[in-house]
Amino acid sequence: MTDKVIIIRYAELYLKGKNRGFFEKLLIENICKSLKGIECKTRFNRSRYEVYDYTDEAEILQRLQKVFGIHSVSVARKCDADIGAICETVKEYDLNGTFKINTNRADKSYPLTSVEVSAKAGGAVLASNPKLVVDVHNPQTIINIDIREDGCAYIFKDKIPCSGGMPVGSAGKGLLLLSGGLDSPVAGYMMAKRGLKLDAIHFHSYPYTSEKAKQKVIDLAEILTDYTGPINLTCIPFTKIQEEIHRCCTSNYMITIVRRFMMRIAERVAHLNDCGCLINGESLGQVASQTLQSITVTNDIIKTMPVFRPCIGMDKQEIIETALKIKTYDTSILPYEDCCTVFLPDSPVTKPTILRAEAEERKLGDFEALIKEAIDNREVIHIEKV
Ligand code: ATP
Ligand code: MG
Repeated sequence: MTDKVIIIRYAELYLKGKNRGFFEKLLIENICKSLKGIECKTRFNRSRYEVYDYTDEAEILQRLQKVFGIHSVSVARKCDADIGAICETVKEYDLNGTFKINTNRADKSYPLTSVEVSAKAGGAVLASNPKLVVDVHNPQTIINIDIREDGCAYIFKDKIPCSGGMPVGSAGKGLLLLSGGLDSPVAGYMMAKRGLKLDAIHFHSYPYTSEKAKQKVIDLAEILTDYTGPINLTCIPFTKIQEEIHRCCTSNYMITIVRRFMMRIAERVAHLNDCGCLINGESLGQVASQTLQSITVTNDIIKTMPVFRPCIGMDKQEIIETALKIKTYDTSILPYEDCCTVFLPDSPVTKPTILRAEAEERKLGDFEALIKEAIDNREVIHIEKV
């Protein structure tokens, strides 16, 4: 009797050492959450994770490919480790042209060596279809036989690569500054891959920016939840702050000061949400606000946590390729304005200084009340796919 199962392989490295249990538990939780609503059963043994008794194979594979911490998956046939059963199961594959059989024995007490198992199974395949040819160097199809210690054998063709990375949540939680652009969703994805759970913050300047611009950000966050699980999106009304900056500050410093206010508010919201870091989509030199000097001046605001900028060394093309892969691209390129385009100066400063930025901010008087008002009037949207 053969059963169809989906084998899940985790990225082994971090599962070694004394934190293994912690990572495994999170990964298992995340796998189960990702399969919510799908007809299937799961089994998690120390040496093997598998999904079985399922119908919608394609949907399960698609979902597992989005779970960080999974290295690869394979659709396998499972049978008794008896050599007769193995040969029968291998013969079930519809093969063409050249093939090769690879055997791996976790069960070292098995009566046949790996080479002997491969030879017997290969012989059975050839006997049932003499047109096939064994090619150990460059075969069209590789069939893997995995003999486990529990008396079962798994037989599979391909290893389907998955996302790799660390289980979401294993590294704590970060607050993503999410605009409607291409870069920030990619930045969130990359940090979630390193094990961060995400919350997000978005600044909007209604009525200068539209309801559609906000909806676009909600849609982007929803796409990210496929990889990260639920996200709390905090929306900050930013209009009044921008108007004040526009009224009081020199125009070429406008963007620099706007960014510093975003950082001030983001750091406080991060503390409110138990986030241990900020994440943004900056890429060095991409625009005036992302020169080394500009980043120095905005980064200077943050004193209590790191700011991660995973896109910092990426070209726009690389960011676009990632956005396409993670399916945020089509939403990101919708043409709705971001709050950063409101009151945009003709020539933003590319080499701002901290001293000058502080002098500009003094023109605003006591801005603490503005910050407090913006945070008090925040709207929190819980985004979770059901
Ligand atoms: P993106 O493609 O992510 O919008 P960008 O290339 O447009 O980035 P900027 O507009 O300079 O670059 O923004 C740099 C970073 O600042 C963004 O990646 C994002 O993390 C943050 N940011 C910008 N605007 C907002 C906003 N309205 N709300 C939240 N974060 C923002
Ligand atoms: Mg932007």
